[in-house]
Amino acid sequence: MIVYVNGRYVHEEQAKVSVFDRGFLFADAVYEVTAIINGKLVDFERHIVRLQRSCHELQLALPYSIDEIKQIHRQLIERNNINEGLIYLQVTRGNAKQRDFLFPDKDVQPTLVMFAQKTNIIDNPKVQNGIKAVTVEDIRWARCDIKSVALLAASLAKEYAKQQGADDAIFVKGDIVTEGSSSNCFIINRHNQLQTRELDHEILPGITRKAVLSLAKEQGISIIEKAFSLEEMLMAKEVFITSATTLVCPVININNKVIGEGKPGKNAIRLREIYLENIK
Ligand code: PMP
Repeated sequence: MIVYVNGRYVHEEQAKVSVFDRGFLFADAVYEVTAIINGKLVDFERHIVRLQRSCHELQLALPYSIDEIKQIHRQLIERNNINEGLIYLQVTRGNAKQRDFLFPDKDVQPTLVMFAQKTNIIDNPKVQNGIKAVTVEDIRWARCDIKSVALLAASLAKEYAKQQGADDAIFVKGDIVTEGSSSNCFIINRHNQLQTRELDHEILPGITRKAVLSLAKEQGISIIEKAFSLEEMLMAKEVFITSATTLVCPVININNKVIGEGKPGKNAIRLREIYLENIK
């Protein structure tokens, strides 16, 4: 794979970042993952707007224009011949040449790393058949709205899910569902409404979440943005999670309890189809 590091396109084995990079030492970095379908970027502008917001929240000045970032994305798609997959982008506060908690001088340039990965987004049997999830206490920090690379809690949660024989983890805070370990969480509640948690500091404002909400609205589906409990999720008619790389992914079993009819729900299937049509 050809990857991008600070202005250069290099073979992945030649790509290097300093041990003093603040992304490595302090997780002082933010990221984005944009899906590629049919060789094209999905919802690119929305991802970049969120990246700019994440940078702003960390007082990290992004020294690249939207256009430059878009060109790098396109180059990576072309140079790696990607038809379906994703582009990962990470910006760190840069190489401070020492370990110091305080921000380095303004002349330290942020590090920009980007790479591509080939994955199946459309024909993904796991997603098409519905996944099994377990809930995990949400031990993440208090600013989950920032897309920071500090993903240890999510990694531990996914590993726990795997050890339990499940495909993914859903975070709960006490009785209340926050979001998936790398996704937003939706239910069809007992009033047949599409329900997802309102945006606040506890969850990431997902790009797919936003797209699915607007498509659901166009379809005349009744929507409510309000947190729901674990109990409400277990009793829901449908549960699904959304993210750039899984799009709309039905959840058919949670904590070994069958959800709805134990197969992908009609709303999840429909929204996935409509979203895909829209992308294409
Ligand atoms: N929440 C979390 C914690 C995530 O990691 C992700 C995926 N990056 C999402 C939600 C979904 O966001 P998006 O739809 O923009 O991929």
